[in-house]
Amino acid sequence: MNQRPVLRRCVSCRQLLNRQQLWRVIRDHQEGVVLDQGMGRSAYLCQNEACLDEAHRRKRLQKALRCQVPNSVMEVLQKRLNQSFDSASEAR
Ligand SMILES: [Zn+2]
Repeated sequence: MNQRPVLRRCVSCRQLLNRQQLWRVIRDHQEGVVLDQGMGRSAYLCQNEACLDEAHRRKRLQKALRCQVPNSVMEVLQKRLNQSFDSASEAR
């Protein structure tokens, strides 16, 4: 059993973080660019607005994956970001 966290580097801020704290974007061999799960070259991104914005503006994911990243993928990430803000602001 290996309990060490798996560290991955964010394509925007270049920080090494636990993989579970990052979004994974994969250039899947069959599906094209997908999120979370897939087989192929992967890029990782912090789950925050600054890194998402940086990735978008500077095409970090495109460079890391060496292919085009559809806007729909960026929109899904933006939505997830908004949802995490919503749930954080809910009083529990
Ligand atoms: Zn980052």
